Amino acid sequence: LKKVAIVGGGLAGLISGIELSKKGVPCVLFEKKKFPFHRVCGEYVSNEALPFLKSAGLYPGQLNPSLISSFLLTSVRGQTATMPLDIGGFGISRFAFDHFLLQVAAAQGVEIHENTEIMNIDFRDDIFQLKTSVRSYDADVVIGAFGKRSRLDVQLNRAFIRKRSPYIGVKYHVKTDHPENLIALHNFPGGYCGVVNVENGLTNLCYLAERKVLLNDKNIPAMEKNSLGQNPHLRALWKNAEFMSAAPLVINEVSFSTKNPVTDHILMAGDAAGMITPLCGNGMAMAIHSAKLVSRLVMEFCTSEISRSALERAYSGQWRKTFARRLMVGRAVQKLFGNSTMSSMAVAMMSHVKPVAGVIMRNTHGQVF
Ligand SMILES: Cc1cc2nc3c(=O)[nH]c(=O)nc-3n(C[C@H](O)[C@H](O)[C@H](O)COP(=O)(O)OP(=O)(O)OC[C@H]3O[C@@H](n4cnc5c(N)ncnc54)[C@H](O)[C@@H]3O)c2cc1C
Repeated sequence: LKKVAIVGGGLAGLISGIELSKKGVPCVLFEKKKFPFHRVCGEYVSNEALPFLKSAGLYPGQLNPSLISSFLLTSVRGQTATMPLDIGGFGISRFAFDHFLLQVAAAQGVEIHENTEIMNIDFRDDIFQLKTSVRSYDADVVIGAFGKRSRLDVQLNRAFIRKRSPYIGVKYHVKTDHPENLIALHNFPGGYCGVVNVENGLTNLCYLAERKVLLNDKNIPAMEKNSLGQNPHLRALWKNAEFMSAAPLVINEVSFSTKNPVTDHILMAGDAAGMITPLCGNGMAMAIHSAKLVSRLVMEFCTSEISRSALERAYSGQWRKTFARRLMVGRAVQKLFGNSTMSSMAVAMMSHVKPVAGVIMRNTHGQVF
């Protein structure tokens, strides 16, 4: 039987493993960290993914996610606009969601190696060899689900890794009285901050900021006071919330550049194939969707219905058809954010020209799957 190796234990990797092992394909999954762990993420999952999650038995209902149906946008100056969300979503911490999926994957028979970083992947004579610092593994197929940025991107010499990216991401869990069904997106000079309830009475605060804002303000507390604090809603949040940890989780070099869905015969899924700007709120749904697409095609390859070149062609084609346009729209819409005048315009547009906001939402989201 052909063997599949999956690099990365985020949503894309875990769900690919679950779907393939359900069909009897032997899968090994490598994750460099140890579960459970926190990630920088707004933790709002678009309901685009709901039918799939429910039909695959992967909707984490027993973890009590919050159900989100309404959207609030505020400008840097604090003007507000609200609108109902067409399909909405749910709020759940990645700490809980990913750990839940890990347990399903293990029960399904995926061979999981935690604390195991893949340093190098080679493809020769129709076989992949994956190397950790201590040993190597062979596989017939590799799914690259290693997220937005990995040492493997350097090894594979992917073009985006050579460009510096101007964004950082910061996340906290807090206790505050944020309305249960609401996702809020607050602008500040040089960035935006999402607020959404997750499980167990916690609220996620997660923001994306241009690195130059941090450089100007010198450090994170000063940036939160001077830059985020210019938006009165964020000022009030930081004043009233109870922070669950003293220091936030921070990531650097968040890149929205285009990538190839197949590189050196590795099938990329989730952020490794392309990352949508977080304001769209559906990077996780896309990671889940790409796992569904890639696992179905890999299944066909494993049962010898299609050749490797047909697999790669079909996956690239399906990936581009499903996701390329919304990544592009997401990059364009992001220009309306993080700037005083533009964010006021975006709020005014959402308040007074409701169809425009609807069009933007439809173009940054896909069909439910
Ligand atoms: C600031 C910010 C806010 C966001 N907010 C939202 C939101 O509210 N809603 C939403 O839907 N999306 C949001 N996103 C996007 C979302 O987080 C991603 O799209 C999603 O996590 C992608 O999942 P993934 O499985 O592709 O990657 P990840 O979840 O990043 O998983 C990749 C895994 O690969 C592992 N790995 C990397 N290299 C190796 C290696 N060499 N060997 C072994 N393991 C490796 C990593 O440790 C990691 O666990 C946000 C992103 C950012 C930056």
